[in-house]
Amino acid sequence: MHAIVKDEMLFKGVIFYLDSDLPLEARCLLEDFRLAVNNAIRAGLQARVTSRNALCKIAYKEFREQHPRMYAKHLVSAFEVAGGILKNYRKRVRKGITGEIPFARRLMMKAENQAYKLDRKSGVIDLPIRAGCHVELKLVVSQYHRKYLDDTCLSFGSLTILPDRVIVAFRKEAPKPYEPDSVISLDTNERSLDGVFVGGDVAKVIKAEFPEVAVIQQRHHDRRRRLQKKKAHDRRTSKSLCRREGAREHHRIDYRLHQVADSVLKFAEERKSAIVLEDLKGMRTKSSKELNRRLSIWPRRKLHQIIEYKAQWKGIPVVKVDPRNSSRTCPICGRIENSRMGTEFKCECGWHLDRHINASINLLQTAISKGMAGGLWFNPGAFQHDVMMILYEPAMAARSEPNGTSGIAEMT
Ligand SMILES: [Zn+2]
Repeated sequence: MHAIVKDEMLFKGVIFYLDSDLPLEARCLLEDFRLAVNNAIRAGLQARVTSRNALCKIAYKEFREQHPRMYAKHLVSAFEVAGGILKNYRKRVRKGITGEIPFARRLMMKAENQAYKLDRKSGVIDLPIRAGCHVELKLVVSQYHRKYLDDTCLSFGSLTILPDRVIVAFRKEAPKPYEPDSVISLDTNERSLDGVFVGGDVAKVIKAEFPEVAVIQQRHHDRRRRLQKKKAHDRRTSKSLCRREGAREHHRIDYRLHQVADSVLKFAEERKSAIVLEDLKGMRTKSSKELNRRLSIWPRRKLHQIIEYKAQWKGIPVVKVDPRNSSRTCPICGRIENSRMGTEFKCECGWHLDRHINASINLLQTAISKGMAGGLWFNPGAFQHDVMMILYEPAMAARSEPNGTSGIAEMT
């Protein structure tokens, strides 16, 4: 069980496209920035340091000599980016994944919040290049973007500049979660969230389905395998193809998980509900390789992460409880059944219910017994003959492209 930390800064990255081509000076700045990042990476690898300050100490002077006019704050932020890349590389090495030496390929730069100005009204960024030289970047501002620009509770964090777009990190202090009037309890499964909603004298069975996530995982897994076989003689090609496959898979699954999370949060916000989830931390995957991949837990962990972060942004309380035995306990008599098989939970006392819904009722009871769901009371029997409410199903997926948000930009 864990409580959400208060007084935390929350970030949301919002993508803005540029109204016109990147000015030449800015493009050169991006190239210089990449050069600075790669120099710092090389220096950091040699000196075995990863922190921004340490990199600054060893690499600043030399790069300064080569680029005497680059705005100092941009240079420092290049060391920060290099530090991040080096830390990731370290982590991989520690895990025994030996890859090629890290290198910043993409043309990009990051500017800290004091190193640029964004006019909320006009959507124009004033970016200093070097002493006496600034460029203006005009952003395309839609209604969606207005929502963020006009919200004065949001301040600007770092700015990421790419050749055709920028990502502005909006930040705010985590709002205090509201006092819930109702509660949603959800059991997280491979293809769906299944659970119950309880508020006042209303009790409903709810469901959000995402069967495509498992399908996408399966399809990409098969394709990766084929690629590996076909390119067995060429490890480098095979590796890079697999990496590309992985990124695409990730992106497509991510997009769906965000939609599922949004539907749950919309439902919760409209009814002032608290959300009860199982704590997936201790959950282990099966040892068999095949099963391990099929039941891969990361989409579920990721879904929780998205729900929790977005809930925090909106001030929706989220409670996480230990899921031990939740799938085989009878909520009426408390008996623990041995078997986990079958789609229906059946107890000797006569209670029977869809296994996933049953699990969510147990999660809710745990939350209530720990005093984490207010003074709520409910009768599990109410769910036995109820009609299901669908919060999300594949048919609801928008066919358009993602709406220009990267969702969780930075986790703090
Ligand atoms: Zn029972």
